[in-house]
Amino acid sequence: MVLNSCQSIEQEPLKLTERKIPPLQHHQVLIEVNACGVCRTDLHTVEGEIIPPSLPIIPGHEVVGRIVKRGAKVHQKNIGDRVGVPWFYSSCGECSYCRQNRENLCSRARYTGFNVDGGYAEFMAAHEKSCYLLPDNYQDMEIAPLLCGGVVGYRAFRLSDIKPGQILGLYGFGSSAHIILQVAKFLQITTFVFTRSSPHRHQAELLGADWVGPPQQPPPELHHSAVVFTPAGESVPLALSNTRKGGIVSLGGIYMSDIPSFKYNLLWEERQVRSTANSTPQDVNDFLNFARTHKITSVVETFPLDSANQVLTKVKHSQLPAGAVLVMDD
Ligand SMILES: [Zn+2]
Ligand SMILES: [Zn+2]
Repeated sequence: MVLNSCQSIEQEPLKLTERKIPPLQHHQVLIEVNACGVCRTDLHTVEGEIIPPSLPIIPGHEVVGRIVKRGAKVHQKNIGDRVGVPWFYSSCGECSYCRQNRENLCSRARYTGFNVDGGYAEFMAAHEKSCYLLPDNYQDMEIAPLLCGGVVGYRAFRLSDIKPGQILGLYGFGSSAHIILQVAKFLQITTFVFTRSSPHRHQAELLGADWVGPPQQPPPELHHSAVVFTPAGESVPLALSNTRKGGIVSLGGIYMSDIPSFKYNLLWEERQVRSTANSTPQDVNDFLNFARTHKITSVVETFPLDSANQVLTKVKHSQLPAGAVLVMDD
């Protein structure tokens, strides 16, 4: 599905197009795509809230498939390997951020389905270093949402500096929070989930949240730290007001509406607010290793590739109860 010009999703800007299989550069592999998760960032790309540097582009950055061909200088991946391609595709490797393993902050970083063609397709060419071997204990559609919602959520979770035995607040309960709630449980962290949606509150309970409530309801006690996944800026002072002294409020979203002004008292006593930008290759490796040993339940619904416009329309209007994954025909 190719994006030729950014438009409102109701105009169906993604077009089903026949293309030749891309020729491989020396370090690239050709992936036969089996599944590709649908992320809200795809909607922002298609509608032009974030504009790809060049068009046409194929979106999709939760790509799961098998390697069917290798370039001449590929050494670390083999034909038949099942791999995933996440949002972070590559960085310059030379700047001060890259040299400190903070590739997520590199000004020349490139992103899958944004700077390079992504996984809303039957085949995708990718640099071997941009593909990651996937754990065997997941089906294709189960692992797809872990590649963006999971990886970026995991970075936000680690930036909250929460420790086993402590209480973590989760604000908003979309794809990332589904996954991070389970990570926290595996690590013996108590979880409080704040969400407006009553179906989401029900799902959080099913996945083992220790307390669930609407955002304005005070929790039974203050949490040590929090991760905010909702894009609503008013969640920030709210989360701070529920955070103990010295705690961190980590913001997991790429986009957030303006944060209302608040009394210094909420930040006083060494509380911190910090944002999360994308992810690094280390985050992907660490999170996939975690998922290898801790089976995470993905709540997903599958759709055919050619329904991408309709699925993104549902994402836009929050009409999907679960994560969406596009699956390719055999
Ligand atoms: Zn760099
Ligand atoms: Zn994403």
